[in-house]
Amino acid sequence: MRTIKLHDKYFKTFITADIINQAIQKMARLVKKDCGGEIPIFVGILNGSFMFAADFIRAYEGNCEVSFVKLASYEGTGSTGKIKELVGFNENLEGRTIIILEDIIDTGNTLEEIFNIFRNKRVKQLKIATLFFKPDVFRKGLPIDYIGIPIPDKFIVGYGLDYNGLGRNLPDIYQLTTQKMTNIVLFGPPGAGKGTQATVLKDKYNLKHISTGDVFRYNIKNETELGMLAKSFMDKGDLVPDEVTIEMLKAEVEKNDDANGFIFDGFPRTESQAKALDAFLEEKGQAINGMVALEVPEDLLVERLLKRGKTSGRPDDQDEDKIRNRFNEYQNKTAILKDYYDKQNKYYGVNGVGSIEDITERLSAVFDTL
Ligand code: AMP
Repeated sequence: MRTIKLHDKYFKTFITADIINQAIQKMARLVKKDCGGEIPIFVGILNGSFMFAADFIRAYEGNCEVSFVKLASYEGTGSTGKIKELVGFNENLEGRTIIILEDIIDTGNTLEEIFNIFRNKRVKQLKIATLFFKPDVFRKGLPIDYIGIPIPDKFIVGYGLDYNGLGRNLPDIYQLTTQKMTNIVLFGPPGAGKGTQATVLKDKYNLKHISTGDVFRYNIKNETELGMLAKSFMDKGDLVPDEVTIEMLKAEVEKNDDANGFIFDGFPRTESQAKALDAFLEEKGQAINGMVALEVPEDLLVERLLKRGKTSGRPDDQDEDKIRNRFNEYQNKTAILKDYYDKQNKYYGVNGVGSIEDITERLSAVFDTL
């Protein structure tokens, strides 16, 4: 998934150039079959259809004529108000087969204008080919002969279509993202219960839980390149280098672009990770809503981790030195993030001592406000 910004709005990838191309090839074959030996005049409706028309006509294996027109409106006299006409037509259309090439048909208003304009032109036949079609909003009883790709009623840009003049040059189609995500950093030292709580909260708030520690462990288990790289750091209780972790985190977010939001567990752990996360979310028109921190005294944490080490199988849980090193890393590199989010008024401390249910309730009270 890719997110782009045009003017004030954000758009994410929706239909790839590949899919578009396949649809166009299919349309061109079908039109050729229907035209037989006849030479059609393809008429592209500017501006939006220029890219579709170019690719469609290139794919059309037969003789044809090509023309482009623009639908212009001018103030009519009397009661008719605005009148539409096609500008740019020089051809004699009488007795010819005209195939209109449209980039998109939604309500059908433009299509209706086109039918009206051609009513008196004494053409042999008028056919309509549109690359995109929105069946849910189409309100006219007019025939559309060829449809490339039906789409739901979403605002799209790219491949000739624009948003306030921008986006026409994009090879893929993008759709508007209106949805604001809820993104929460669940924070706290090792053993604070972030993972346990995240598992409950992600279902309760319909968010995607990303635990960088879990992703690393998954990669180690599957002996991936990333896993091999992370293992030496993790086994000692050191942090994995930022470049590696940040790239991995981004990939996890991209994989779940449709989520309502994320619970980040174990990320960010350094100031540069926090900055990278802010910048990355900003590119998507999103942001961190808050950092919710579980506050637990260190002695209790060591006890919890050693206990967990007996069943978790994690090498970094089983040795008190490694555990202490993880706390050092936390104190030296991670704890400062409290200030980072506090400065943005996004820090929420929660007492992390008590039963799992009690702590979930305390966390929920904060989540509800975010
Ligand atoms: P966790 O499961 O969150 O306790 O993470 C276990 C280990 O994974 C950490 O001790 C680090 O070695 C590594 N790790 C997890 N998240 C990060 C991160 N954000 N930055 C660097 N290393 C990480």
